[in-house]
Amino acid sequence: MSEEISELVLEALGGEASDPPKTQRIFTNRDLDFESIEAIGFDMDYTLAVYKQAAMEQLSLDVTVEKLLAQGYPESLSSLRVDLDFAMRGLIVDKQEGNLLKLDRHGYVGRAFHGHRRMSSSERTTMYSAQRIGQDPDRFAWADTLFALPEITVFAKVVELIDSAPELFAPGEVPSYAEAWHDVRAAIDLAHQDDSIKREIKARPGDFLDDDPDLAITLHKLRSSGKKLFLLTNSYYPYSKVLMSHLLDGRLPAYESWESFFDWIIVGSKKPSFFDAGRQFLEIDPDTGEPNGEAVDVPLRGKVYQGGAREGLQDALAMPGDSVLYVGDHIYGDIVKSKKSSSWRTALVLSDLEHELAVRDRYRSALEEIESLTRLRNQLAEESGDQRNLLRQIDKLEPDMLNDVVGDGVLTNEECEALREKGVQASRRRYERLKRHHERVHDRLKEVRKEVGAAFNPYWGSVFSERYDTSLFGAQVENYACIYTSRVSNFRFVSAARKFHAPHGSLPHW
Ligand SMILES: [Mg+2]
Repeated sequence: MSEEISELVLEALGGEASDPPKTQRIFTNRDLDFESIEAIGFDMDYTLAVYKQAAMEQLSLDVTVEKLLAQGYPESLSSLRVDLDFAMRGLIVDKQEGNLLKLDRHGYVGRAFHGHRRMSSSERTTMYSAQRIGQDPDRFAWADTLFALPEITVFAKVVELIDSAPELFAPGEVPSYAEAWHDVRAAIDLAHQDDSIKREIKARPGDFLDDDPDLAITLHKLRSSGKKLFLLTNSYYPYSKVLMSHLLDGRLPAYESWESFFDWIIVGSKKPSFFDAGRQFLEIDPDTGEPNGEAVDVPLRGKVYQGGAREGLQDALAMPGDSVLYVGDHIYGDIVKSKKSSSWRTALVLSDLEHELAVRDRYRSALEEIESLTRLRNQLAEESGDQRNLLRQIDKLEPDMLNDVVGDGVLTNEECEALREKGVQASRRRYERLKRHHERVHDRLKEVRKEVGAAFNPYWGSVFSERYDTSLFGAQVENYACIYTSRVSNFRFVSAARKFHAPHGSLPHW
């Protein structure tokens, strides 16, 4: 073994600092013994290959708008620019009403925008208080991946144009909100299918990919600790090859090419149906990037396959399902679906977490203030409610009742009335005092929450929370991801014998 390689192995096995910065930690929802994990699978897009979000969104946006203009949509769409804050993962689109919604874990709408206009709380209540949101796929769509964000931006703009400048559409051609959503979706799907987005990325991967210098050493460290690695991506071979080469080729001398980091490589996997479809694996000819006519039920190591199904891969892995950890960024396609149809353990990659954790750190004292103010406000609300009820009861007391309770039946009616009036005055003063205190606490709470919420995201607040609770997206993370972290290379801090222990209560990074 050359000295360089042996040093690499030592470094890999020895690990780096065991206590990484909080933004690079791995958080646990469900206990996981890392030592019992024998194979780790990786999704590619937004998992191994993290995109520069601004460049990626602007490209998707430009290509989508181009296709909408060709269909007769107003020319003014072409000036649309990315606003990285406005579209956020986890939002629900109400196609029928042209609204964007952020829900708490119980499905209650906490914030809503119509186009780019924030809806008032009475508008929200009138429209959504009587229904359970998100249960009707014809009306609601969920933006649960970072790929879905440009369509939110385009849709909001189109909604705005429908409302404020219908004359820009051809006469009689103003679409309904639902038709506009359909057109935006179709345009973006077409942009993905006809290669107009991927062509640009393949030509200039460095402009679109976030270069993570620790990725190669992380994969190497996992391999050195005896784990098998596989790539399982929905992207097809020619695209996967460009991205993976860009990220891994020539990074470590012990690895001839990106393929040598993985024991099995599956492209074009069609997740989520990969997890329960009975498809065969088609062998890929690396020269053409196309299937070469060979199809197998169980993929072999060292070859590249397209399609297939989890069952065949599981046979190839030859280990129990719960010894496999699958790492992906798509809450439904990678995590929920694999969790529901297999015993694979799951790790969710959430690049949004880095910003979220940095804000949490910066606003630590404000967040603590929010917690104590919330407790105080609830306590004051209860106490002032009790005082108000007491006031009503005293006010209604009849003289003989008062005489029975405090006067031993010897007071005159006038004395009873004076006593009652005194009680009413005292109770009212206490009630007013509590009410004022409650209002002051409520106002301060509102102010601090607004300040912290804007630091997370000026439109939507934290991705993971809504109002006083976990957001619907946060709840999905909690329910389905065994562990979660901001990027794959954070695994370099994990020792082979690591036991991930889940805390009890809300999301571990809270
Ligand atoms: Mg992905």
